[in-house]
Amino acid sequence: MHFRNIVASGVLFRGTGGGRRSDMERALLTIAELTKAVEANWDRQVDWLKTLTSFPSERGHEAPCQDWLAREFAGRGWQVDRYRLSDVSMDNLPGFSPVMDTDYSQAIQVVAAVRAPEQKGRSLILQGHVDVVPRGPEEMWTDPPYKPTLHGNKLFARGACDMKSGVSAMVFAMDALRSAGLLPASDVYVQTVTEEECTGNGALSTLARGYLADACLIPEPTGQDILRATIGVMWFRLKIRGRPVHVSRSEEGTNAILSAYHLISALQRFTKDLNERVKSHPWFSKLNAPVKFNPGKIRGGDWASSTPAWCEVDCRIAVLPGMTLADFRKELTQVVTTAARQDSFLANNPPEIEWNGFQADDYVLEPGSDFEATMRAAHQALTGREPGEAILPAVTDCRFYGRYYGIPSLCYGPKGAESHGFDEFVDLDSVKQTTIAIADCIQRWCGVRKAD
Ligand SMILES: [Zn+2]
Repeated sequence: MHFRNIVASGVLFRGTGGGRRSDMERALLTIAELTKAVEANWDRQVDWLKTLTSFPSERGHEAPCQDWLAREFAGRGWQVDRYRLSDVSMDNLPGFSPVMDTDYSQAIQVVAAVRAPEQKGRSLILQGHVDVVPRGPEEMWTDPPYKPTLHGNKLFARGACDMKSGVSAMVFAMDALRSAGLLPASDVYVQTVTEEECTGNGALSTLARGYLADACLIPEPTGQDILRATIGVMWFRLKIRGRPVHVSRSEEGTNAILSAYHLISALQRFTKDLNERVKSHPWFSKLNAPVKFNPGKIRGGDWASSTPAWCEVDCRIAVLPGMTLADFRKELTQVVTTAARQDSFLANNPPEIEWNGFQADDYVLEPGSDFEATMRAAHQALTGREPGEAILPAVTDCRFYGRYYGIPSLCYGPKGAESHGFDEFVDLDSVKQTTIAIADCIQRWCGVRKAD
């Protein structure tokens, strides 16, 4: 038996010492013991991940996946709260993103509480999202996206990387402790949410519903780096009108699709300007051109021989870090208005902008928190190295906990590739490593008690 002494935030975990040891002072498991416990459940974890990635949990279709998870959690003896986003009032909370065409009565969220009778350590939220982005044309995948397939030590499936493997890591980290006869010595909330890929309202709903803790870990696929910062993101829909005429007289009308391209060009120039301005930011200046703009979805027109009378473009743009969302919306609106004025029809029929989806602030995990120190120590104990630091030109759910609720929140998760692309995969070795590191982080943060 090996013992470790760690001191964090006034909580002493002591493995040795005279007299009768309390549960709180019970020795933490060594990395070798944690590894053994994770190894013992490993085949089951891979099968579990395969089942999880076989659910096509694209937006609006997450319920069967969430129902399966709720049953899995209940089967572990955890206390499950399964609810709908439409059950939660949150549209006046900071971080809420407006939604127009999604039915929240079908958006199921799951929070499983693993409560300790007495709070002897610090409480923890383990959170993962189970919504995945659309698969695109299936014939472009080597294997069907919802038929998880192993090639060597890589598991291929939509969601394998982003982020169902991370969900398996947090659940089986808890299982590993349980297999070793231990439970966390303070409350742990295991949460699976939706809407991460479009609004973040799933994460926000858990907070609105009252699930707070001393820290939050989200195992997004960081390649076992610790996430330092994420940029803000905004979604909007451009609605553009045209004047339809027979194409033989096209010069007498206007073409809403070509007008959309005109506005897109203006937004591309705006993006270039934003990437110049971001160069003075302490964290995001470390990235090359972190402000990305993407016209991601376009539809318009009614007839090949008529100039289009309408066009709609769904766009995503990164928010300049440090800027408020309201100021950014104002500046972006000005860019669109100025571009529209250059066209006589658009000048009199100005395009509309609908803010539909992500209205997400940037987030920085300031160095020096106890929780980061705990995760770093777990990674270090496992690998012998300090973890790297990730700065993302994208969002995660961390912002809700860290920015609006003062709960230190970080991402640390497995390594994979092709998130949002074809042939998405995760490296299973890194999933195992992540599972061990998270189990260690849980015991260091929460302390442990003997399971009944
Ligand atoms: Zn993700």
